[in-house]
Amino acid sequence: MVQILVRTLTGRTVTLDVDGSSTAASVCQASNAKQGVRAGVDCRLVIGGKPLSGDDALPALEAGAEVRVLARGRGGVIEPSLVVLAKKYNQEKKVCRICYARLPPRATNCRKKKCGHTNQLRVKKKLK
Ligand SMILES: [Zn+2]
Repeated sequence: MVQILVRTLTGRTVTLDVDGSSTAASVCQASNAKQGVRAGVDCRLVIGGKPLSGDDALPALEAGAEVRVLARGRGGVIEPSLVVLAKKYNQEKKVCRICYARLPPRATNCRKKKCGHTNQLRVKKKLK
């Protein structure tokens, strides 16, 4: 048994015990379980810059070695911090009901002249 440090999807670090039979998938599951992340989230590991996923066996790790867990999303892997950024810039917005202009979340009136700067704004629908 070797204890390793795992940087999880949420950016926290947890410790996990691994042994010769551990695979990328088992480390993902164990770290997700520790974080209370919904089971079955598909993820991959990066160990020393080398990506591992699924049934890939772990390389020989020293105690205290650091492993990163990354989410595998549609269209490739995105860093969790980028997901937050992307949501901030693309999802947390208001939309004008008249001209569909995308507005900052704190806007009360549309910035476009064509709808008469209407105050009929709605919160942008959440991305799936
Ligand atoms: Zn408008």
